[in-house]
Amino acid sequence: MTVIDETAIREDRLLTEPRARGIARILISEQELDGEIAAIAAELDAEYRDDQPLMIGVLTGAVVFMSNLMTAMTIPVQIDFMAISSYGAATRSSGVVRILKDLNEEIEGRRVIVVEDIVDSGLTLQYLLEMLKARQPKDIRVVALLKKDKPDAIDVQVDRVGFQIPDEFVIGYGLDYAGQYRNLPYVAVLDPSVYR
Ligand code: 5GP
Repeated sequence: MTVIDETAIREDRLLTEPRARGIARILISEQELDGEIAAIAAELDAEYRDDQPLMIGVLTGAVVFMSNLMTAMTIPVQIDFMAISSYGAATRSSGVVRILKDLNEEIEGRRVIVVEDIVDSGLTLQYLLEMLKARQPKDIRVVALLKKDKPDAIDVQVDRVGFQIPDEFVIGYGLDYAGQYRNLPYVAVLDPSVYR
């Protein structure tokens, strides 16, 4: 895991691109992302060298991480996706989520790798894991690209974190703000004037 220092300013020239409008600064560069993902891929290659794991991506934020992680791996893998949505503020504290798209594959008896974009409070992941474990996979490993440094987050299973980041709202590399910014090839912080 790499710990990101929020004071670092990276690659200002990229901020002039149209897709980067409204961005305050880059938090994690493409090079840093590539390096960490290569390291995670090598670990997964070793862990699953005698198996063919099923990678489950959580839509939509995990698509960029999932794509780059699986293509950096050299063992055969299968992939599937789930889409979930929070029930909103009223049930937020329970972490109950609604399944918008379920898996195509059965996971009973399989080795599963859950691929998450970001763990914030941990509630979404906790609920998702309970749901997946009830289907009796052989084992589950959770890989999250980002985890916020948040003392009050719940203690949920995350086996590998790419980057621990400050408790700020981030976008890019699959993560959106109001549907925008997912195609940024880095992780960035928005200018507060965009969303306040
Ligand atoms: P949690 O249940 O852990 O609080 O939240 C997890 C989900 O909230 C993530 O999968 C993501 O969709 C969303 N989320 C949490 N923090 C951020 C953030 O900083 N930026 C974006 N774009 N989404 C976030």
